[in-house]
Amino acid sequence: MSFFKTDRCKICKEKRGHRFCLRIANNICWHDCNKLRVDLKCPEECNYKLKQQDSFQIKTKADSQMEYIDLLKKQIDKWISTPQKVFNDQIPFQMIETENGKKKIISFLNQFKAHSLVPLSYLKERLSLDDLKVNTHKKTFEDTAMEFLTMIVIHEWENSTNFLLNFALYKNKEYLTNYIQRLSSSRILSKMTEFDLISSASTKQNDQALVYFEINRKYELTLNLKKLNNNWKIVSKIFGKPELYNSEKEAIQQVAVLLSKNQLGNVYELLKKYSDIYVDSADFQYYWGLHYSFSRNNKKAEQHLFNAVEIDPDFTEAKGLYATILLQNNQSEKAKTIYLEIIKQNPKELKSMNNLASIYIEEGDKDKARKLLERCLKIDPNFEYAKKNLEKINT
Ligand SMILES: [Zn+2]
Repeated sequence: MSFFKTDRCKICKEKRGHRFCLRIANNICWHDCNKLRVDLKCPEECNYKLKQQDSFQIKTKADSQMEYIDLLKKQIDKWISTPQKVFNDQIPFQMIETENGKKKIISFLNQFKAHSLVPLSYLKERLSLDDLKVNTHKKTFEDTAMEFLTMIVIHEWENSTNFLLNFALYKNKEYLTNYIQRLSSSRILSKMTEFDLISSASTKQNDQALVYFEINRKYELTLNLKKLNNNWKIVSKIFGKPELYNSEKEAIQQVAVLLSKNQLGNVYELLKKYSDIYVDSADFQYYWGLHYSFSRNNKKAEQHLFNAVEIDPDFTEAKGLYATILLQNNQSEKAKTIYLEIIKQNPKELKSMNNLASIYIEEGDKDKARKLLERCLKIDPNFEYAKKNLEKINT
């Protein structure tokens, strides 16, 4: 048995070795790759070889903005401690001993229109160039993803909702409580003490992004983000590699097919596997709800359907089934609220209107029931259930 885990970086032996280094002839982490390649001595064949174009312009492959910024910082460290031709071979770190030297550096730096990722504030700090004007760092999707995970590390469950796309929903106490319950009962998240950013990617339009982390040097987590009014927000968590994002639809399809064939045994295994990965998928929660309602476990069905509704409040089918199960579980007041919500969101949802009318009939509130049923029949005069219910009232 080997003492070190085999997937670790060969150099630091701590972080994940996710990149093959031709110099080490082994897998290393991006942090160590940056330390190595900044000397410009990497072999030509490596995609991560650094090609210097200008002082702060480098052409190379980087798997995340964080990696690129780290590389630029290393480049800055090198730049300030080596003789620079533009300053007649003086070393910036020595030039700053005189005010004149500082001025020279600043006027040189002012010529550039630096890319927003160039960490000029780092350079400013390293050389104490108080007069250097730098742009304030614009928050990237990686920053947002890391701030969100930091909230989880310190168990600020409630505050973590501010980072979510659906943040407004969690002003509702019931949804908030359910969200916190889902998050804090996650074996991986509740014990998370550290996270390492491995890679990230965004769409061409820069409106959606995936950020891939390793949690506690063991688990993989991908965060899916979207831009909302120019702010990055968390859409969902996927426990696994970013590639899994693309197979979610297929996984949903697979479960749907098995459910339609009533193969409950196989559904259970698949649902377990997929809902451990796609923890924020309303679809899989809905399918759990279906599965448990088929196997007459209404308590569990109710919980999963509420999860589905909390994750996606516009998911009409899940809401409808949730209301049905609530009724069966003798919670007619809650069921009424849910039906009213569905009808408000979807004024032509006949089934929910009819079901709500049935509750009113049961409660003896014939007027309310009649109004709803007449509305139903106005939309679809052939809607049998509403016709029957209306007959019931009139006899
Ligand atoms: Zn390493």
